[in-house]
Amino acid sequence: MQLIDGKKISLELQAEISIEVQKLKAGGKKTPHLAAVLVGDDPASRAYVRNKVKACENVGFKSTLIEFEVYVSEQKLLAKIDELNNDADIDGYIVQLPLPRHISEQKIIEAIKPSKDVDGFHPINVGRLVLNLPTYVSATPFGIVQLLERYRIETEGKHCVVIGRSHIVGSPMSILMAKNTTLANCTVTLCHSRTLDLKEHTLKADIIIAAIGKPDFVTADMVKPGAVVIDVGINRVDDLSQTKGYRLVGDVKFDEVAPKCSYITPVPGGVGPMTIASLIKNTLLAAKKEIYA
Ligand code: NAD
Repeated sequence: MQLIDGKKISLELQAEISIEVQKLKAGGKKTPHLAAVLVGDDPASRAYVRNKVKACENVGFKSTLIEFEVYVSEQKLLAKIDELNNDADIDGYIVQLPLPRHISEQKIIEAIKPSKDVDGFHPINVGRLVLNLPTYVSATPFGIVQLLERYRIETEGKHCVVIGRSHIVGSPMSILMAKNTTLANCTVTLCHSRTLDLKEHTLKADIIIAAIGKPDFVTADMVKPGAVVIDVGINRVDDLSQTKGYRLVGDVKFDEVAPKCSYITPVPGGVGPMTIASLIKNTLLAAKKEIYA
């Protein structure tokens, strides 16, 4: 079994991006600029945004963090989005999800200018992904494809089972893995909460991508020997031996699944760091106007 080191690959990608940023600056081009909008004080969201801003600094981007109180009105948030859409210095921006219940996430996502939607959540960018047109691929699936590429994991003709059909992970992941490209070309099965006999599907998988949000959900009896297992889950479980009172675990029961796999991602240190590297990469594409001229 080989461990897929997402942290290492993420740092490699960031180092490559930082060289590109230096070249841009040396050529008199503007510094890429990512803005992040954070609403409320959810500790997990705050930590994610902090890591994204820190990664921007590491690669030499400019970053702006815009914070709102949890009770900010939808109208006020939309006004900020309009401002960001029209700010020529900002190449791309994200609105950290989830948003408080009184704000429509869909309305907010649709208000983001597609050319600045570096999270790749806008319907136009999702549609472009489906049609195989240049687009911002949402960061987590994009990160997973890059991990498979860097580890030279063969995907063509393989059977990939994606568990979870969310708009940000499972659905775009299934589309990416089925694409007619050398990095994908899988036969894809998309499983979800209404799938009957999930194990029957996972046991046939050469590649399992678990994005469920349930700790230790994928067990050894669900995995074919030699399978590649990508664990997207980030779940907090109580652990009083930790100073924070909890620890992070994935959707895969790592200790029993790992010995059966050819490759597996750990949690933490697998998919998570790649999500950030992909967001940075999308921002570079935005700054270089490679998706939308
Ligand atoms: P979600 O809650 O939006 O979707 C979960 C999916 O799991 C749903 O589509 C549902 O149909 C499916 N599901 C639920 N119960 C199931 C069952 N019993 N059998 C089969 N399918 C079932 O979650 P999400 O936003 O896609 O996130 C999934 C997990 O990935 C979470 O733990 C989240 O924290 C994590 N996540 C990690 C990253 C990262 O960067 N590593 C990024 C995004 C999300």
